[in-house]
Amino acid sequence: MRVAIVGGGISGLATAAALEVRGAETIVLEADAHPGGKVRTERVDGYLCEYGPNGFLDREPATRALCDRLKISDRIVAASAAARSRFIMKGGKLHAVPASPGAFFTSRLLSPSGRLRVASEPLRRARRDHGDETVADFGRRRIGEEAVEVLLDPMVSGIFAGDVHRLSVGSAFPRIVELERRYGSLVRAMVSLGLERRRTDSPRGDGGGPAGPGGELCSFVSGMQEAIDTLAARLEGRIRTGARAVAIERRDGSRWLVHVDGAQPVEADRLVLALPAPATAKLVGALDPSLGSLVGGIPYANIVVVLLGVERRHVGKLDGFGVLIPRREGKRCLGMIWTSTVFPNRAPEGKVLVDARIGGALDPGAVDLDDEALEALVRRELGASIGLDGPTVFRRIYRHPSGIPQYVVGHRDRLAQIDRFLHHLPGLYLTGNAYRGVGFNDCIREANVVADAVGGSTC
Ligand SMILES: Cc1cc2nc3c(=O)[nH]c(=O)nc-3n(C[C@H](O)[C@H](O)[C@H](O)COP(=O)(O)OP(=O)(O)OC[C@H]3O[C@@H](n4cnc5c(N)ncnc54)[C@H](O)[C@@H]3O)c2cc1C
Repeated sequence: MRVAIVGGGISGLATAAALEVRGAETIVLEADAHPGGKVRTERVDGYLCEYGPNGFLDREPATRALCDRLKISDRIVAASAAARSRFIMKGGKLHAVPASPGAFFTSRLLSPSGRLRVASEPLRRARRDHGDETVADFGRRRIGEEAVEVLLDPMVSGIFAGDVHRLSVGSAFPRIVELERRYGSLVRAMVSLGLERRRTDSPRGDGGGPAGPGGELCSFVSGMQEAIDTLAARLEGRIRTGARAVAIERRDGSRWLVHVDGAQPVEADRLVLALPAPATAKLVGALDPSLGSLVGGIPYANIVVVLLGVERRHVGKLDGFGVLIPRREGKRCLGMIWTSTVFPNRAPEGKVLVDARIGGALDPGAVDLDDEALEALVRRELGASIGLDGPTVFRRIYRHPSGIPQYVVGHRDRLAQIDRFLHHLPGLYLTGNAYRGVGFNDCIREANVVADAVGGSTC
């Protein structure tokens, strides 16, 4: 069986690798000159610069299994112990995110009444129906308005660059909803899971790790692109770069033809589109306009990555993972990762590298700011909080228009409708971060799901 995979980001490459194991013949068509999509690492002037993801959580077995299969598990580096502390900005100052219930009650992050409201969470009635709601509505029900603004809003910014009042809690954070359903309360769930872990003596996922509950943050010795380079080497001869798919066509009711810009069309028994939603919408819209508008209706947020290098002596102690900034602080920066604290060898000796994020669903215009304005914004909004008192010695800026898909309320219904339409297009599969998880891990897990479906299909 020959399978064409359009899109050579981590989703497309992991799909090809999973299909290879299942004995399929694959061909990956990637528009860019290099595979990897959002995953790209550059080494510039001794700084290790991540274009997109900085890392992945090690809780997902699919990623671990893929690394084992690629024999790169020994290349994985876990975030440093110093990165265990995370901060949230309040009133322009950094407050540590409490890592234990005791620390929570002495923390000044929330007002006394806000803390009490969170503490009363186990007394709130659980919602057990399957209705969709925003992260903010969910949070208001369980932990109160103040905690939504101070804790949930920056969490949503940190992962989705999203709007807490629009994202669906069930689609964006399915695990949280599942915990409410199973345990009736998030606090009870955390206590039970903590006890369970202690009983089984699990060394990981203790909730105190830098990534929060459920895993340690990891990367690779030479950055995230190591995974891409290894996958690409494994799939050598089966990846065509500079191959932009411009149309897809059904052949004889069962085969698929992919028209490629400036090249011969590619024919296959199965076709997997591992593309951002707008690109998928264009291709499937020509076959079925309703399917095209369903996929094309998935919104995206713009985001800008601003990497700055400074002399170590010109910053305070960057002891931690970084800081997230709630919207109510009135800043355009969403937060900052203290990259050279988190992973080794990210900056030359005597220098530090920080990675600020600007933009997001509520500030789409940030991608249009020029480099000078972006750097000035980061220094103005975050400089004082990290004790920055010297010049920038290195700068790298990456703009991601339509960078991160937004799973807004209604996303689950949209996916169900997409699946119904796909049912009438046998042999066609969609995967990628637009649907069931935006993380690197999610992409690999979903790649396995789609490979199973392709492998098991009989159309
Ligand atoms: C700034 C940023 C930071 C992030 N940080 C993290 C993080 O720390 N941890 C984490 O887990 N996740 C993070 N993510 C999310 C994660 O990186 C992405 O969700 C994931 O890499 C997406 O992979 P993908 O293969 O689904 O899509 P993409 O990487 O977008 O790949 C799609 C590919 O399709 C190609 N393509 C498009 N149109 C065509 C066409 N017509 N024909 C052929 N090819 C085409 C593109 O060139 C691209 O290579 C981050 C994302 C961004 C933007």
